[in-house]
Amino acid sequence: MHVHTLSRTVEIVEGRPHNEQMKFCSHCGSDRIVLRVPEGDHVSRFICSDCATVHYQNPKVVVGCLPEWESRILLCRRAIEPRYGLWTLPAGFLENGETIFAGAARETLEEASARVEIGELYTVISLPQISQLYMMFRARLLDLDFSPGPESLEVRLFGEDEIPWEELAFRTIGRTLRNYFLDRKQGDFPARVSTLVRRTSRQDAISPA
Ligand SMILES: [Zn+2]
Repeated sequence: MHVHTLSRTVEIVEGRPHNEQMKFCSHCGSDRIVLRVPEGDHVSRFICSDCATVHYQNPKVVVGCLPEWESRILLCRRAIEPRYGLWTLPAGFLENGETIFAGAARETLEEASARVEIGELYTVISLPQISQLYMMFRARLLDLDFSPGPESLEVRLFGEDEIPWEELAFRTIGRTLRNYFLDRKQGDFPARVSTLVRRTSRQDAISPA
């Protein structure tokens, strides 16, 4: 697979990273959790006052793909919140111990019962305010034997003029699809690396799959 070189930019939006709340220490069970910058660090961390464990939190990776069949793209209509009833590309949180390729294929199988050959990495989108990183691959749908998984109401193929632009679940998905149809006209799909910042609270959060 061709790997594009990404420029290294470290940027923390609004001066502080997103921290998920923490009520109990996962190491000792204490509820005496404080949020402060450990000595020698530069970012606030949840620290247990009883056992001194520093609980590091890092972004979650969302992996998914654009399954192509001839000139059409497979979309799934969500059967779960958030964004119940809206359309999305198959995508979800990467599991521990899993490669991004396997994760993208697994999410496609779970959400659309569809088998794909994962291709080139296509969009990488940082969502710093909700601490997520989207990695979307191009993919080739291997057959037309697909159907809604438990998290989908409906699964179907869309041509460019059929995409339900007003009913897409997430801005990351809209951006990925817009880039795709523009790039397809040029016949070239360079990796698209970008950032999305918040319009409203939890705009692009998705539930663990
Ligand atoms: Zn503890």
